[in-house]
Amino acid sequence: MTGVPVPGPGALGAEDVTVVVNGRTLVDRVSLHVAPGEVLALVGPNGAGKSTLLRTFYRVLRPTSGHVLLDGEDVWRMPGKRLAQRLAAVLQETAGDFELTVYEVVAMGRTPHKRAFEGDDAEDRDIIMGSLEELDVAALAQAPFDRLSGGEKQRVLIARALAQRTGTMVLDEPTNHLDLRHQLDALRLVRRVGVTAVIALHDLNLAASFCDRICVLDGGRVVATGTPQAVLTRDLLAEVYRVEAEVSRHPGTGIPQITVVPDARRDGRPVERG
Ligand code: ADP
Ligand code: MG
Repeated sequence: MTGVPVPGPGALGAEDVTVVVNGRTLVDRVSLHVAPGEVLALVGPNGAGKSTLLRTFYRVLRPTSGHVLLDGEDVWRMPGKRLAQRLAAVLQETAGDFELTVYEVVAMGRTPHKRAFEGDDAEDRDIIMGSLEELDVAALAQAPFDRLSGGEKQRVLIARALAQRTGTMVLDEPTNHLDLRHQLDALRLVRRVGVTAVIALHDLNLAASFCDRICVLDGGRVVATGTPQAVLTRDLLAEVYRVEAEVSRHPGTGIPQITVVPDARRDGRPVERG
């Protein structure tokens, strides 16, 4: 892509963050520190509080107590434009209601770098087209965003975050709706651009393959944080997900890989024994 300077990756942290909504504690005293350039997976069952926590990072939801810090600065005290120059988000509720073309959605990523009403220059157009190409959606540039499939929309939203050229990203289930090829491409891209990233993921094997560390949330609390090897154990999967699973290690990389053990009685299919 172009040689536009990119802000360096930031240190992102949650300090004792609690979110209470209507008397319910959705995030409970979460502390989390992500080093510059580190990629951290946020995992946990449905309703664990992953999206709620990520929304506090991108200032959609104010923590009831605690702080979210980017390079030591409280994001809730930063001017919005400055935050948007340094932190990009791919959040789930962004989808829908865009009467814009794909190109225009991705061009929104350039807004934090411009003055009001300033148009896109050649460099912006290069960045926008480069981002569309990276996410394999350049052919859709003139298509209305609303007409795209779920997976295409998701890739456009990642392209928009990429066009924002920030050093830090939060992504809420960015691989949702993506086919395997595009899942791998999206996560490889996050690694390749060298940003600090917090990524909510459901696929634990993808999390283990692409992320430096994994943080497991359950009931709004952090129940484990560490390398995939340290965190993804049989006991943790049984306790947090209530599944019986085998954890093996890839012979070359040592990366843990999870295989759910079929339950012949419940799943209604025979278990091969050999
Ligand atoms: P996850 O992303 O891990 O699946 P969420 O952060 O979306 O979990 O949700 C955590 C819990 O908070 C869920 O039980 C959800 O129903 C609840 N929740 C989320 N948003 C709100 C809200 N605005 N008001 C009340 N409850 C909410
Ligand atoms: Mg969620």
